[in-house]
Amino acid sequence: MSVSEWNIGYSVLSEPLRAWKIGTQGPSIHFYGGFHGDEPEGVALALSLKDYLIQNADRFQKKTLIVVPIANPDGFKNQTRVNAHKVDLNRNFPTKDWTSKASQPKYYPGPNPGSEPEVQAFVNLIQESKPHKIISFHSLNPHQINYDGPAHKLAHAMAKHNGYPVTEDIGYSTPGSLGSYAGREKKIAVITYELPEKISPEKAWKESVEAILEAIRF
Ligand SMILES: [Zn+2]
Repeated sequence: MSVSEWNIGYSVLSEPLRAWKIGTQGPSIHFYGGFHGDEPEGVALALSLKDYLIQNADRFQKKTLIVVPIANPDGFKNQTRVNAHKVDLNRNFPTKDWTSKASQPKYYPGPNPGSEPEVQAFVNLIQESKPHKIISFHSLNPHQINYDGPAHKLAHAMAKHNGYPVTEDIGYSTPGSLGSYAGREKKIAVITYELPEKISPEKAWKESVEAILEAIRF
């Protein structure tokens, strides 16, 4: 049985970005939580998932599942959306659509595309591991399963389990996002899984576990 744990990189304030890998066979599926530090719902869900996968690791040995529960540890600690450089990590990915303009300070994309160490760690992880699916946990009102890249069918398969609305457009533009980088440009199926805001960890897990297991099987 294979479970490994390592750091994919470090935050601005030198906090480790912890990662867990369950199984070593087949194309990898990545799960991320907490790109936005003020969305603890997604971190809690990713931590629940990590514990569940470790406890049931025997069942997942024919997969390669990588979980990074806290993508923005400095923001998570300070309960801010942005990292310690006040950058929205989900606007900092090195994409063709990256722009220095932000409609609001909370969307500050950083001085340059890919300038932030947290984003660099994910760019390297994606390059090395070549996932065919990425599920990133956030929270938003309205909750939804948003997708980028070749993930239309995957999004609907997941939504069958919890009735979350499926959206291709989240309602505002997201240049430099993970979905733009990995989904639209690298053609990886990317799901931005938006939990309801303020949902309890128990309820989030209960209404998401079957959708997540579907994403692993799909
Ligand atoms: Zn978010």
